[in-house]
Amino acid sequence: MSVEHPGVRGEADRPRCSAKGCRAPATEDLQWRNPKLHDAARVKHWMACAQHADGLSDFLAARDFLLARSPAGR
Ligand SMILES: [Zn+2]
Repeated sequence: MSVEHPGVRGEADRPRCSAKGCRAPATEDLQWRNPKLHDAARVKHWMACAQHADGLSDFLAARDFLLARSPAGR
């Protein structure tokens, strides 16, 4: 299950969910910006797994931070 394969592109390169305590691979890329902190050119990314994508997205949308959602990884 957790055998390391040095030299093989693997877990470390894969984006993980941004939700606290979640180590699942991200399936969605949430793009957001806080207009009070970031200028219009800045786009922040939260990677989210399927379980947390909606929750994180709602969190951002409720604050008017959410810009876009797209599938993560490939
Ligand atoms: Zn998650």
